Amino acid sequence: GTFLNRLRNTEPQLKSFLYVSDVVLKEAEEIDRKIAENEELGPLAGVLVGVKDNICTSDMPSTAGSKILENYRPPFDATAVGKMKKCGAIVIGKTNMDEFGMGSTTEGSGYQVTANPWDLSRVPGGSSGGSAAAVSARQCMVSLGSDTGGSVRQPASFCGVVGLKPTYGRVSRYGLVAYASSLDVIGCFGSSVTDAAILLHAISGHDKFDATSSKKEVPDFASQFIARNHLDSKPLKGLRVGLIRETIEGGVDPDVISSIRGAASHLEELGCTVTEVSLPSFSLGLPAYYILASSESSSNLSRYDGIRYGKQVFADELNSLYGESRAGGLGSEVKMRILMGTYALSAGYYDAYYKRAQQVRTLVRESFRAALDENDILISPAAPSAAYKIGEKKNDPLSMYAGDIMTVNVNLAGLPALVLPCGFVDSSSVALPVGVQMISAAFEEEKLLKVGHIFE
Ligand code: GLN
Repeated sequence: GTFLNRLRNTEPQLKSFLYVSDVVLKEAEEIDRKIAENEELGPLAGVLVGVKDNICTSDMPSTAGSKILENYRPPFDATAVGKMKKCGAIVIGKTNMDEFGMGSTTEGSGYQVTANPWDLSRVPGGSSGGSAAAVSARQCMVSLGSDTGGSVRQPASFCGVVGLKPTYGRVSRYGLVAYASSLDVIGCFGSSVTDAAILLHAISGHDKFDATSSKKEVPDFASQFIARNHLDSKPLKGLRVGLIRETIEGGVDPDVISSIRGAASHLEELGCTVTEVSLPSFSLGLPAYYILASSESSSNLSRYDGIRYGKQVFADELNSLYGESRAGGLGSEVKMRILMGTYALSAGYYDAYYKRAQQVRTLVRESFRAALDENDILISPAAPSAAYKIGEKKNDPLSMYAGDIMTVNVNLAGLPALVLPCGFVDSSSVALPVGVQMISAAFEEEKLLKVGHIFE
């Protein structure tokens, strides 16, 4: 009831949801009945979850923020959603996002602009801005997002919540609307590391419907937290932390840098040794990411042809039917990505762009491997600034893309990363949250979450 009331009161200003369920109370009553009758309850019993609108839900629309999928209701639940429901979670609604995940502000939604709960004139980040804002404003307890190039971590930083991008393959992508399939992963938002850990545990694991999902064992991520000895003043003794030098240099807001340095000192107090490390290929990640993500999306989005899904504009000739349905249903950012991707993949330019971007991807992966041989975790900001004003970068896509510099490399390497609040940027009227990003080797979420839990 409390959450639903708050949702009703804050939603007119925040606009984080594209759809709100009308059966939440009924589902909650069902949990109450189970409690009364001593029936077994799942680990997420009664937990109210917001689900990003590019994750399929059988009983609600799933538009991925696009007009081309307006009114589309998938006939199935994404594997991650099904797993949550089995654990007793209640899906409270579908959250706003940049169309198909393409964007960093949620202004790219085909439907509405979401506000940042800390300052309503600012963006919540993106593309999972609705999911981040909803948890930040306590409209729901936890939420699911997706992270192709930072879409869980950057909005977590902008909204002052915990954001977790799992290892590529940890969570099934079945039912996640594809953006760039070699980079996409479903991630978690929570107001604490424990929340994120419990949610990750519920949604992880191999799935026969996603051939890239991993068969690796899924640890009970949060169970280790309880065992922590609070009298131990150096609980992270011996942990080697590498602060990525290229992420605290020029172009980054000085308040962000001092927040990250503050987080490094806090880790030292907890017993870690912190040293600066260099990732020489760091700055190459951004252009490589945008070439690869656009290329993959140009192929993935070819399925929206006006026939298989959603909106159809009638025409007397097939090619015009395709053309007009896509022209009317897809937004300008999406069209630009399709054009960029098609260009990079075309015969005359393939070697110069797509192939070189793949080579950079290998370099990025290698440089992370070297840095993670020497260190248990790496840290950096999650974004070069705090949340900026709505409209500020709307007509300047390159400066919006540049804001993804801190996160895209992690996707290119497929690694897990956790973002947690660590400081503030002083803007004129209000202090805006800043998040620190912690990165580990693949499938080491357990370590990451443990460090995060002790850190917070
Ligand atoms: N902002 C990045 C992009 O537009 C990342 C988006 C994401 O992770 N979905 O591609």
